[in-house]
Amino acid sequence: MSHRFDARHVVDGSESRVAVRRARVTQRGYRAYSRKDIDTVPALRHLAPDEITAMKAVSAVLPFRVNNYVVEDLINWDDIPEDPIYQLTFPQAGMLDRRDFDRMYALVRRGASESRIQSTAREIQMRMNPHPAGQMELNVPHINGQSLPGVQHKYRETVLFFPSQGQTCHAYCTYCFRWAQFVGIDELKFANREAQSLVEYLKSHREVHSILFTGGDPLIMKTRVLRRYIEPLLSPELDHLVSIRIGTKATAYWPYRFLTDPDADDLLRLFKEVRKAGKHLALMSHYSHPRELDTPAAQVALRRIHSTGAVVRCQAPVIRNVNDNARAWAAMWRIQVQLGAVPYYMFVERDTGPKNYFEVPLARAYEIFRKAYRRVSGLGRTVRGPSMSATPGKVVVEGITRIGREDVFVLKFVQARDPDWVGRPFFAKYDPEATWLRELRPALGEKEFFFSRAMREIKRSNRAPAWGERLVKRRRATVFGHVEWE
Ligand SMILES: *Cc1c(COP(=O)(O)O)cnc(C)c1O
Repeated sequence: MSHRFDARHVVDGSESRVAVRRARVTQRGYRAYSRKDIDTVPALRHLAPDEITAMKAVSAVLPFRVNNYVVEDLINWDDIPEDPIYQLTFPQAGMLDRRDFDRMYALVRRGASESRIQSTAREIQMRMNPHPAGQMELNVPHINGQSLPGVQHKYRETVLFFPSQGQTCHAYCTYCFRWAQFVGIDELKFANREAQSLVEYLKSHREVHSILFTGGDPLIMKTRVLRRYIEPLLSPELDHLVSIRIGTKATAYWPYRFLTDPDADDLLRLFKEVRKAGKHLALMSHYSHPRELDTPAAQVALRRIHSTGAVVRCQAPVIRNVNDNARAWAAMWRIQVQLGAVPYYMFVERDTGPKNYFEVPLARAYEIFRKAYRRVSGLGRTVRGPSMSATPGKVVVEGITRIGREDVFVLKFVQARDPDWVGRPFFAKYDPEATWLRELRPALGEKEFFFSRAMREIKRSNRAPAWGERLVKRRRATVFGHVEWE
């Protein structure tokens, strides 16, 4: 028997409390639904035909994928379209510009050819900032003059690795900032089949303490494939590597990955091996809403992960229509602590894809953070945020205050392209509408932020201060022509 959504936990669409659940979890087969299956999702049969057409129109542009667990156990179908998990996973008309939506809707409605739909969709995608924050240009390192396409090294201590077989997810978040790689914009896809070149890079970069597997979702990979990437990292030659992290949404969207999937036990064995080799292993779990922690499957999965010695750290962006209220965050942080997981980051939604649909102004994100933060004990205050992953670094809004006669945002880098910028407070003019760093202006009579000049120099010279090397200048692909720097 699978858990069914329990409406008693809902207050105004956001759970105020999540209970610990002790039910038994039994085997479950994975079934994915993507755009071509929209007509077969049982729960969608009650939607009006124009709503289905709208869904098909939007999902031609933005990636769409859900699974049986998300549909059956996480979404409250009595509450759609407002239901937060429905908003989180199902495409909505408002995610496209009105004009773009009307064009796509008309094409789908009149049964236009798939190639026509795809070419229009591609044109719209290219206008949606598919690759924010200079990820391709500034973060990809080189070894012997060759770029390492599956590797990003932006902050000195941590390397991101995108295993080529981990570039999809068990279900897609509608707000995903890596959406472009799921719609087949190949130029944008990071891929690296060579775990070996990663090891070579790490051997020559002893400043790197942490490797973060990301994607997509690396836990989409079968354990035997993941093992090929992870085991070489346990070599004594890489004794400077303190931690291995795996960014994942599987704990929320498909907890059976740790429970009853055929290679679930093998995955847990792999986790134990990492711990036995003396490394910290962290799952960087993406939880967007307390309901994702409110099923027996989700809770038992956490217990099994913890039994291996791995740590689960939790992060997500603040998203309008999904979790833009303090009650949801406080409930989420509380149940995370109760289940032994660690609240880690609250992010600000990136400037890409359907940003207008989801964006929350910085001032509001900060108020949500502060209200939720004061409702949890110190064990939940490990969380930092709201944090913007911008081109210069991760910038946290520390506060809104008044200095002399000026209202200001107090900001701070928690990670920076130049390690010297970390931890230095700086000030921006208060702006209730601003949603991203690039919209902010220096306060207190300063002409520019303290890092602006150095950031210009980094872009001009492709200098990479985080790891003390000069980047080989990359050809700038035309699809990036419109990408702006923050
Ligand atoms: C967030 C992030 C990391 C990890 O930062 P931590 O503060 O160590 O969690 C590493 N690289 C990039 C590019 C990031 O955005």
